[in-house]
Amino acid sequence: MPGRSGLRPDRDPANDRFRGLRLANGWARRLLRVSLYPATFVIFVGGGSLLFDRMDGNGVALGVYLITIPIFFLLERALPWSERWIGSKGDVHADVGLVVAAGAAGALLEPATRFAALPVGAWLSSHVGVSLWPGDWPLLAQGALAIVVGDFFRYWVHRAMHEWPPLWRIHATHHSATRLYFFNGARIHPFEVLITGFVEIAPMIAFGVPLEAMAMRMLIGRVIGRFQHCNLDLELGPLDYVFSSPKNHRWHHSRNLGVAAHNYGGDLVLWDHVFGSFYLPRDREPSDEIGIENMPDFPRRLWDVMWTPFSWRRFLSESTPAAETAVSR
Ligand SMILES: [Zn+2]
Ligand SMILES: [Zn+2]
Repeated sequence: MPGRSGLRPDRDPANDRFRGLRLANGWARRLLRVSLYPATFVIFVGGGSLLFDRMDGNGVALGVYLITIPIFFLLERALPWSERWIGSKGDVHADVGLVVAAGAAGALLEPATRFAALPVGAWLSSHVGVSLWPGDWPLLAQGALAIVVGDFFRYWVHRAMHEWPPLWRIHATHHSATRLYFFNGARIHPFEVLITGFVEIAPMIAFGVPLEAMAMRMLIGRVIGRFQHCNLDLELGPLDYVFSSPKNHRWHHSRNLGVAAHNYGGDLVLWDHVFGSFYLPRDREPSDEIGIENMPDFPRRLWDVMWTPFSWRRFLSESTPAAETAVSR
């Protein structure tokens, strides 16, 4: 088990290439542990929002997504939570492929969702008689509100994926990760991208959320998401009770699916508090042995990972019958 701070004892000598970047216990490490999360928000959300007048908001959000990749690559080598999670475990190839597939699925999703949700929005507006969205609020506030609203739907679709076996087949791809690092938040089956994206975005379109506010939500979500799966030894204090953070999300990746049935929030843990699924023990940290307890032989190669939901029975016969149960509380 890792200590609450400092380097973990189980170092993998094969990952020593970046040893020179490692921050030893001292004031610099303590300062970075506490300040990195809020500072990143100020720089990328605050700074990015200033660009909205001059650039397309989605472009700003995409820029932040891309810029933070090399930054977090280096940060994880300077301030790792688990030494064993540094370096490829044969997962990078599949993760990159899944990101590309997610991008393609997302490109299909946007127009299809608009097509389906716009008539619903028009019907709602005509029956309610007033605008359903506070479009006169400052853009940052609209983005924050969109995060809260979107996360409500994201919470329930994520929870359904754990509790309903047909959806668990798809979501298992995400939980098959054997380590967490800044990039594998996107280790998501393309079908999950389509399902979650539709459930999340359709209500926004129906509520009449302006495109700029959607882009602001995307920008804030990019920063939260970059931290959510990162392998960084951070101290967030009360923010662990607000955001879906690396500390509380590690419990969601527990090999024990009963423990993993907590902290469903995508950006926030607000709805976990409301619906009783928040879990963050104060006296211990989770193991860095993650994955799915009853699926030790989950496929690793990209195409096999993509195909797993459709060859589930064959896959089960090669694993254990207990794997068909998504969640046992
Ligand atoms: Zn999950
Ligand atoms: Zn996750």
